[in-house]
Amino acid sequence: MTIIVFGSINMDLVAKASRLPVAGETLLGHDFLTAPGGKGANQAVAVARLGIPTQMVGRVGGDSFGVELVNSLQASGVQTVNVSVDNAVSSGVALISVDDAGENQMIVVPGANGRVNQEDVKLVVNLLPGATALLLQFEIPMNSVLSAAKAAREAGVTVILDPAPAHGDVPDELYTLVDIITPNEVEASQLVGFKIDGREKAFLAAEKLRDRGVKNAIVKLGAQGVVCASAEETFFVPAFLVEAVDTVAAGDAFNGGMAAGLASGLGLREAVVWGAAAGALTTMKSGAQPSLPNWGVFKGFLEERGFGVNSL
Ligand code: ADP
Repeated sequence: MTIIVFGSINMDLVAKASRLPVAGETLLGHDFLTAPGGKGANQAVAVARLGIPTQMVGRVGGDSFGVELVNSLQASGVQTVNVSVDNAVSSGVALISVDDAGENQMIVVPGANGRVNQEDVKLVVNLLPGATALLLQFEIPMNSVLSAAKAAREAGVTVILDPAPAHGDVPDELYTLVDIITPNEVEASQLVGFKIDGREKAFLAAEKLRDRGVKNAIVKLGAQGVVCASAEETFFVPAFLVEAVDTVAAGDAFNGGMAAGLASGLGLREAVVWGAAAGALTTMKSGAQPSLPNWGVFKGFLEERGFGVNSL
């Protein structure tokens, strides 16, 4: 029941100041922190914390961030033998400035993530026998995403695509290789070409994505919940009511929780509830990876909300 995650691994460098600087200006900040991130790594951590064997495939740079990033994946239980060190470039980083009102500016340098290629796809292929699902996002080159999706489909492994960050140029063929696509409202709008503001439009978008060849389309609507369209049914799963403090990585937690549910043998509807629970729990704490729940917290939350959970 292994889950493979093929995607980005980043270090977030966060500086906080009373306001954001203008061009050419130097400001004194009042806080600084580093935190492991990247949608691929976040999703891998989200799955592994729920006790599912998780294989990460990707690249870090030959710098000290690379060492830290691999260590932090391992600390959450993610297998990293297929995370390569690329000495030619830096690790992927996000340079984030945040002001006291919460506004931010960000520069993302893909670094090693941008050099993921067919060599890495081969590592994915080697892991496919016996895997339950392959999780993909758009923070590594599109041709690698496409090749990995093709190989997974041929091997009968479920392809779960988070089309994030929004990408203007998604190859038509990719849709035909995806079992479950999971855009948020912004990403779904970009993919279908009309604005999504609520459930009705989200259902239309999900159907449009299915028309392109995706088997199941899930549109994530933040604090509202998710709409799902499969061949058999369309349904809505409301979000859990929680006190959200920071929604960073909620989408990654959703995908990780849903994949963990599928790996545990659940059907799509129940797996979506797992995704919603992981997403909701992640909003209750600040930060990306530090806010992703472990199995004990996750199980307790679902039971408290009236959903029985069998231990794995
Ligand atoms: P993304 O992070 O990709 O923008 P969303 O914000 O839609 O994705 O969040 C993903 C999922 O996490 C949601 O579909 C929902 O299940 C859960 N979630 C997000 N925000 C909240 C919230 N404020 N309260 C409860 N659940 C939330």
